[in-house]
Amino acid sequence: MLIVMKSGATKGEVDGVVQVIEKLGFRAHVMPGATRTAVGITGNPGTLDPARFEHLAGVFEAIRVTKPYKLITLDLQPDQTVVRAGEATIGGKELAIIAGPCAVESREQTFAVAEAVRASGARFLRGGAFKPRSSPYDFAGLGEEGLQILAEARDTFGLKIVTEALDEAGVDLVEKYADMIQIGARNMQNFSLLRRAGKSKLPVLLKRGIAATIDEWLLAAEYVMSEGNYQVVLCERGVRTFTQHARNALDLAAIPVIRHISHLPIVVDASHAAGKSHLVAPLARAGVAAGADGVMVEVHNNPDVALCDAAQALTPEEYLTMVHEIRGIHNLLTSPVSA
Ligand code: PEP
Ligand code: MN
Repeated sequence: MLIVMKSGATKGEVDGVVQVIEKLGFRAHVMPGATRTAVGITGNPGTLDPARFEHLAGVFEAIRVTKPYKLITLDLQPDQTVVRAGEATIGGKELAIIAGPCAVESREQTFAVAEAVRASGARFLRGGAFKPRSSPYDFAGLGEEGLQILAEARDTFGLKIVTEALDEAGVDLVEKYADMIQIGARNMQNFSLLRRAGKSKLPVLLKRGIAATIDEWLLAAEYVMSEGNYQVVLCERGVRTFTQHARNALDLAAIPVIRHISHLPIVVDASHAAGKSHLVAPLARAGVAAGADGVMVEVHNNPDVALCDAAQALTPEEYLTMVHEIRGIHNLLTSPVSA
């Protein structure tokens, strides 16, 4: 059920609706918008009768939600969500750039990459301290020490930190050191992790699962939001198909499709889609051209010796060229059409 308030509804009227919902034992999600406030209801086991809410003061209409998701939809919030980490945003006017190494390997490596990231004007530094690796024998990250290095880089370079939590205990640590929790493709349907991230005050970057449909991905976002955390960024990173020429198949159509359904911002991870460094910039450019709010990309100061995802790492020089190109595309798309 979705309650749409009248455009001039007072805070007292919104609070009144929330109280009625909570008295019924359900959860109310208040979404203030530019023109009207909506209140989503979750936790109700069956359908609710709109008549129960329509007579309440300040209510314009109560709408039955027939889709499997409620909170991610444009019905609930017609204005696009702007996800904020301090002054850095994803989903606002600026093209968001999240760049950094696949894994934090050392202070020297992280700082060398962070310097290039800062020089590019990007606002987010990425880097894994806890790495989900296909083989148990591969480098799995520096753990808390890696988070400490990232926190130091944040203070030195003024960048916001995006880093992956593999499990619920990992979220506690990421909250201590970073600015945004990344949930990786392999964990997109780790429901206890999603619920834990939903209780966090930090924004969440939610990767699309390796073979997830759009609906499964949006429902994963719904899990996070249903716990009260509405600051979610979707990240398209390619899905597994029969292709062997790239690591994954970047699903560009997902960008306009998501835009059509959801108010959540969407970024493109060109690196994990590509798998090879020479494919990264073309995919990043295509993602921005398709309307992505930002790009995630892996950069290494010396890709030849990278401990994780070496083949797809851009050098700082390649990265700076790519940023120039994607900014050009974004500027073209956001500048007014001249006759
Ligand atoms: C990553 O971003 O480091 C990562 C492991 O990506 P994904 O979860 O998309 O594979
Ligand atoms: Mn990687």
